[in-house]
Formats: sequence, structure tokens, C-alpha cells
Amino acid sequence: MSLLDIEDVSVDYRIGSGSLRAVDHVSLRVEQGEALGIVGESGCGKTSLGLAVPMLLPANASISSGSISLGGRELVGMSERELNQLRWTEVAFVFQGAMNALNPVQRVDRQILEAITAHDSHADREVAGARVLELLELVGIAAARAKSYPHEFSGGMRQRAMIAMALACRPSLLIADEPTTALDVISQAQILALLDSLRRSEGLSLMMISHDLSAIKRVCDRIVVMYAGVVVESGTTEEVLGRRGRPAAAQHPYTKALIAAHPDLGGARSLAQGLSGHPPDLSVPITGCRFADRCDSAMEICREQAPASLSVSPGHVAACHLARRLVP
Ligand code: SF4
Repeated sequence: MSLLDIEDVSVDYRIGSGSLRAVDHVSLRVEQGEALGIVGESGCGKTSLGLAVPMLLPANASISSGSISLGGRELVGMSERELNQLRWTEVAFVFQGAMNALNPVQRVDRQILEAITAHDSHADREVAGARVLELLELVGIAAARAKSYPHEFSGGMRQRAMIAMALACRPSLLIADEPTTALDVISQAQILALLDSLRRSEGLSLMMISHDLSAIKRVCDRIVVMYAGVVVESGTTEEVLGRRGRPAAAQHPYTKALIAAHPDLGGARSLAQGLSGHPPDLSVPITGCRFADRCDSAMEICREQAPASLSVSPGHVAACHLARRLVP
């Protein structure tokens, strides 16, 4: 059984008198100890999907169909009280721009301590205090800096502190939304190395949401590519994006466009290519392939019929009329 099982989930937003479907019948799973990357450009539904797991969607959004099971427990329909017990202890979320979410007038150790005591009112203060120092050390912040205020930390250190806070109650799943955005390249590399090592040392499962393919490639075992609310391709990072000398075997033109738009520092010298056009308007029904207006390979059938998901190799699925089984 997978740790996280998302089955046929749709998320709708109420906008004015209408609605917009940000996530449309998406299914995916995260295994125990696995790192899954979700990629796609802004507005593809990846953050909405991530927020749907701990039921932290904004007030104008709701899950209109599907099921989300974490450790065998169904989360859709769970009471707020039950969800509160489960957040932080089973699933923790590091929000986009989380490093700015620390309370500026409270010392960092105190904020992490509060995260622990809020979920365990009987926690021994001394034991909890030792856990705070242990957590800070785990994310590479020396105990001597524990009593600092957030403004005394660099951006990378604040992000580390937020990760320490997310780990305070030993969750089995960490969802990190753009954990390296707004950080300088050195801090980015350090945070990615930290997430990778935490996953291995703490047996943590990770769902990393990002538009940055190199970040996903660095940390994640598998990748799910989303476009306009649907999954267009999924598979092992090694097979889809290419890694360790293996060429990328992405099948979907959108995934290929994402790869082409990304400079590969380790590969042959080539110019990164941008993707023109915009994703479709999700507030109106869409016929056919959602990527058709931007796809150089679009055919007549693409505008008439949405492509079904095809298993191109074991564990690798692509939703494109042109997708073909890979010959081993
Ligand atoms: Fe392009 Fe057609 Fe494939 Fe869509 S189904 S990605 S339009 S080739």
C-alpha cells in the first residue's frame, strides 16, 4: 500500500458566478520513503493538488471528486478536528515563500517549540526544547543560533528553520511547494541537498512541487508533469528527464518543451528554447488535448479527442496521441 494515494481528484474554485477546475481527475501515489516531483508552469494545478492533501485549500476552493488516502486513512470528508491531529504529525507542508512566514518578533527556537507543544499539550518543555535544538542541527543550523530572530538569518537559513518546524512532529510525508524559489543558487543547492538527506536519514516521503526541472532531477525518484489541471506524463525521473548518462525519454510534447526550456549544465552546449502561447482558460469546457494550441505536432484528432494515458514502459505513462511504447 502506498503512503499517499490520490485517486481521481478534482479541485474546483468558485470565481464570481462561475467556477474553474484547477485539478481535473488527477491520480498519483507516493510510496514510503519516496520523493515525488510535481512539475508544470504556474497555474497548472500543482499547488492546488498539494494543498488538497492536508485539506488546506483556500475558502473558495473545494475537492469536487475523488479520494485522498494517507497511510490508509481517507482524508476527504474528515472532520476539521481529525485533520488538525493529522497535520504536522502525519503530513507537513512547507509553503511557497515559507521563509517569510516566520514570526518576525519571536525567536526561532520558540516558534519551533510552539509547533511541538501545539500538537502535544503534555510535552515536557525540557524534552521539547532539546528536540528543537536537535531539529535545528538536523537542518544545519547551529544550536548557538537558536535564539536568533528571523531577521538575523539569511534566506536559506530561514527556509531551513521552516523545514525544521515542518519536521517538528515527525510527519511521514512532507509536501514542499517551491522550496528553493527566491533563494540564491548556493542556498538552493544546500536546501535540495538537505531535503535529499532528510528523506534518507528520517525515512521521510517527499512531495516536491516545483517549476524547476533541475531541482526535481536532483531530489526526486519519480516525476509527475501537470498541464492545465491534468497529468500529461509520469514516470521515473531517470527515464523521463534523463540522468546519469541516460538520455531523456519524455514522450509528451509539453514535457519535451519543458526540458528544452531548461539549460542543461552537464550536457552538450545548446540554446534553451522558450515555449510560446498560454495554457487554456480552465473556466470553460475544453475539447480535445489541452496542449493542442501550443503543440507543434498537433493533428486534427488532437482538437477533437482528449488523449488517453498510454503506458509507454513499466511505470511510465504519457497522455498524447503520439505516445508510443518504448522498445526496451
Ligand atoms: Fe500535441 Fe496532439 Fe499530443 Fe496533444 S495529443 S500533445 S496536441 S500531439
